Amino acid sequence: MASTNLLAELKPFADIVQSNAPLAPYTQLKIGGPAEVLILPRSIEELVAVVKRCMEHRLGFRILGSGGNVLAQDSGVPGIILRLAAPAFTQIVVEGRILKAGSGATLSSVIAHAAQHGLTGLESLVGLPGTIGGALLLNAGDRKSDIGQFVRRVEVVDNQAVLRQREHDDLRFTSSGAILDDPVLLSAEFDLESESRDAVVKRLHKAWIQYKATQPFSFQSAARIFKNPPGLTAATLIEQAGLVGTKVGAAVVSERNANCIIAEPGATTRDVLRLIDIIRTRVQDRFHLELELAISVW
Ligand SMILES: Cc1cc2nc3c(=O)[nH]c(=O)nc-3n(C[C@H](O)[C@H](O)[C@H](O)COP(=O)(O)OP(=O)(O)OC[C@H]3O[C@@H](n4cnc5c(N)ncnc54)[C@H](O)[C@@H]3O)c2cc1C
Repeated sequence: MASTNLLAELKPFADIVQSNAPLAPYTQLKIGGPAEVLILPRSIEELVAVVKRCMEHRLGFRILGSGGNVLAQDSGVPGIILRLAAPAFTQIVVEGRILKAGSGATLSSVIAHAAQHGLTGLESLVGLPGTIGGALLLNAGDRKSDIGQFVRRVEVVDNQAVLRQREHDDLRFTSSGAILDDPVLLSAEFDLESESRDAVVKRLHKAWIQYKATQPFSFQSAARIFKNPPGLTAATLIEQAGLVGTKVGAAVVSERNANCIIAEPGATTRDVLRLIDIIRTRVQDRFHLELELAISVW
């Protein structure tokens, strides 16, 4: 249950505040306990007002995208979680070579939109789950390209609850993510190349087939667990350690990508965490290498 104090501080937003709200449906693994408080702003003004309130009252908060990188504890996630799922945060607009997307828009809808407008660049990211906010924060990508290289500028809510623009260089994209000093990413502008629509769609189709062959099936609830160590892939190390198919409770190492854990019906976050421990220990024993978590435990 949310503390009475926390709910009292958020009273002006009672319409959009849910206490003890299930989070599992909003994560890729579909497991874990509820959020102490979940807030669903309906407009940018409402979001800014919530952030201002949180700043003034020193209330910490986190933004949840599509929860691809989040493992929610079974006992629940303390504090405030914001979801930017309202239409105000998911718009996608194309002007010439510039595609502007709200941070709550899914990566897949942005890629489809770009292809429809004959804009190329993002095709190799097809299939990756996630919202624009989460994908940018993690600088999602593969070894060939990452989303950050196409970003021209972003709009953020800063830690004074003021809307600001940040240019590409302010975000400092690295292989493990963007370094954003602002608490909320609101939208992003991508600078893409023009090409014939047919050529982009064809490349998209090819990239999709290649990606899907290396990922868990789409009906499975899954998450990518570890970062790739420099020059290696976590999936290969886990495979070579003989861990494919290893199961704890209802959490299992994927047969299609050993760096993914599948949550079968009835799985708990505890199962996933125990499986993570087993993988790390076995890879450490076998290769003297410590796998670093990509997923965050909330
Ligand atoms: C099956 C599977 C396969 C994957 N394969 C790959 C792969 O091949 N390559 C790769 O790079 N990644 C891969 N990923 C990771 C994936 O790219 C990320 O999980 C996804 O992009 C994160 O987006 P999200 O919306 O789910 O973010 P979330 O997991 O919800 O959030 C991620 C982080 O971003 C923050 N955040 C989200 N939105 C905002 C916002 N608007 N403002 C401020 N902070 C925000 C969150 O607080 C959190 O810290 C895979 C994930 C899965 C589940």
